[in-house]
Amino acid sequence: MPSQDDPEQGKPNQEFNRFWASLWNEASRSSEAPASTAPLNEIGITSLARQLGLSDEQTNGHWCSRCQGIWYGYTLEVQCPVCGNRKG
Ligand SMILES: [Zn+2]
Repeated sequence: MPSQDDPEQGKPNQEFNRFWASLWNEASRSSEAPASTAPLNEIGITSLARQLGLSDEQTNGHWCSRCQGIWYGYTLEVQCPVCGNRKG
C-alpha cells in the first residue's frame, strides 16, 4: 500500500536545488557583472568587440546609467557605444 507522504519524493528536488545553487555560486564568482540570467536591458556591443570577433564569453557587460542598460565590450572599454557615456 503506497504511503501518501513518501519521504523519497523530496529528494530529487533537493539535489536539483543544490545543483542550481552551485551554478549560481560559480557564476557570481567568475564575473563581477550582475548574474547573466537576470532580465537585462541589453543595449548593444562596441565596434571594437565586434571587430575583434569576441564571443559572448569574451566580452564584459558594462552598465550605462544614462541608457539604463548593459552594453558589451572588451574588458578595458569604458565608453558606452550608444551614448558615449564614460562614467558608468
Ligand atoms: Zn549609454
